[in-house]
Amino acid sequence: MKLTEIFQRNKYSLSFEVFPPKTDDSYDSVKTATEEIAKLSPAFMSVTYGAGGGTSKYTLDIAKNIREEFGVPSLAHLTCVSSTKETVAARIADFKRAGIENVMALRGDIPKEMQGEDRSGWAYRHAVDLIAELKESGADFCIGGACYPEVHPESVSQADDILHLKEKVDAGCDFLTTQMFFDNNLLYNFLYKIRQAGITVPVVAGIMPITNAKQVERAIRLSGSFMPQRFKSLVDKFGGDSAAMKQAGIAYATDQIIDLFANGVTNVHVYSMNKPDVAAAIQNNLSNIIGKNA
Ligand code: FAD
Repeated sequence: MKLTEIFQRNKYSLSFEVFPPKTDDSYDSVKTATEEIAKLSPAFMSVTYGAGGGTSKYTLDIAKNIREEFGVPSLAHLTCVSSTKETVAARIADFKRAGIENVMALRGDIPKEMQGEDRSGWAYRHAVDLIAELKESGADFCIGGACYPEVHPESVSQADDILHLKEKVDAGCDFLTTQMFFDNNLLYNFLYKIRQAGITVPVVAGIMPITNAKQVERAIRLSGSFMPQRFKSLVDKFGGDSAAMKQAGIAYATDQIIDLFANGVTNVHVYSMNKPDVAAAIQNNLSNIIGKNA
């Protein structure tokens, strides 16, 4: 099922992101974790694409398994910046053969070794190049793109970032998913600005439950997200006690989601970090709000 149908049909959608194994050895444990999350019957599950595409076959395997064995619609991520045209064409052909309907089209982070290079010869410079190729592929993919309420770190300004976001949507993005954020006001402000810029596709809010103190530093480093004082206090107080921090992190994420639903944001995607217990706890906390068809 296409995600756009889910966004239209459901009053609220709660979905989960999982990541594929980084090595062959961890395949079984990662697969089991994704299956435990699939058993929760979320609205859909996304499967990320390893940076550089090293373990790309697992993205497809897991996305297919979730859909075929558990009936959960899946969204397969695909990045392009460090790929050749041939590799991307092969991935798209794999997706078509596997019956993948939903693709998250991403540029990917620029690998260190490519950072000083002249970009004019690159096969892909931006996600918009991949979106155009997916549209031309002949498959009727439902295409997602990434967006950044706190501005992508490479952008010179928010206005510039939103301009390029509009280009992605005009090229064929059917929906957008946000980078994680910990202060909902940042999202509300962003939504106002992109709607003003004429971007009308559904926006799925990305929420990262922080369930251990180490994750905080990693989340800031990777996303550059602003941490509100309310959140910092919670980490200061409970960061040294793993059980307490987990409970507090789940409560904070739940609170953020309830506020989003209460303020008209209807689709929320939880970065589950492959933790079925965290995904289940958040879903349980919202059970009467989201009802059966989350
Ligand atoms: P783009 O849309 O290309 O944007 C990147 C930068 O270029 C922005 O500053 C933008 O304003 C600018 N830009 C865009 N188009 C143009 C243009 N035409 N001309 C000039 N400037 C332009 N990474 C992975 O490796 N695997 C994943 O599975 C993955 N999943 C993600 C899921 C979500 C929801 C998000 C938010 C991020 C994800 N990422 C993933 C990280 C993502 O790959 C990085 O954030 C990457 O740096 C940017 O990707 P993008 O698709 O947003 O790029």
